[in-house]
Amino acid sequence: MTGWVVVAGLGPGRETLVTPEVQAALSEATDIVGYIPYVRRVKDRPGLTKYETDNRVELERATHALEMAAEGARVVVVSSGDPGVFAMASALFEALEAGPPAWLDLDIRVLPGITAMLAAAARIGAPLGHDFAAINLSDNLKPWDLIEHRLRLAGQAGFAMAFYNPRSASRPLQFARALEILREACGAQTLISFARAVSTAEERVTTVKLEEATPEMADMRTVVIVGNRDTRRVGRYVYTPRSAS
Ligand code: SAH
Repeated sequence: MTGWVVVAGLGPGRETLVTPEVQAALSEATDIVGYIPYVRRVKDRPGLTKYETDNRVELERATHALEMAAEGARVVVVSSGDPGVFAMASALFEALEAGPPAWLDLDIRVLPGITAMLAAAARIGAPLGHDFAAINLSDNLKPWDLIEHRLRLAGQAGFAMAFYNPRSASRPLQFARALEILREACGAQTLISFARAVSTAEERVTTVKLEEATPEMADMRTVVIVGNRDTRRVGRYVYTPRSAS
């Protein structure tokens, strides 16, 4: 039996947004590994073992996937959205780097998915139509000072921005601070969109000016998109022109 590891993105939620190549990998897998809600999105079938793990054990999860593949299993490590965007693909390579050299010969593939900011941007219109930056607002894996620094510089440089992991129960204050910095760096009239649970039954998308934005508008199921100074409304859509003023 020849084992392999596929790191796959399941997209933002809706089943039709899972790519055919990810569906094919899931149907050939013997084992699924990932964070509980993502593993639950994969349908049960005979011959498939599912390992649901907690959020903060990425490295253990990746090591487990590689160990199983080395023994002949066909393992899919699942992420939401795209696996390379603040997700499991990097963790897999970190585990590979730390593991036995024999693992380097394993068949490892990363299959892309539709990341939250692109699904959200498509619902909103085209807010990321010019240059933009994607920033993870969680300070679990980097210092908050660095996040503030990047926010300020990206805003001053005129990038539109997409924010992942904007606000959680354990980090209630940081997003309020992020909004303050954005108002200073981008101007209070800049448009900001809150896209929650995009492509699911709970989807909710709202756009306001930065001066009207409040921290409660975001939670951990929200991706936040801030426009640049040219970003504007046309009817019920928001778009950023492809040329800079
Ligand atoms: N790999 C994922 C991101 C993982 S980080 C991707 O590419 O989309 C988790 C964060 O992604 C959440 O806190 C939220 O900011 C965002 N997110 C994931 N799914 C989302 C969805 N359906 N709607 C809005 N935001 C989502």
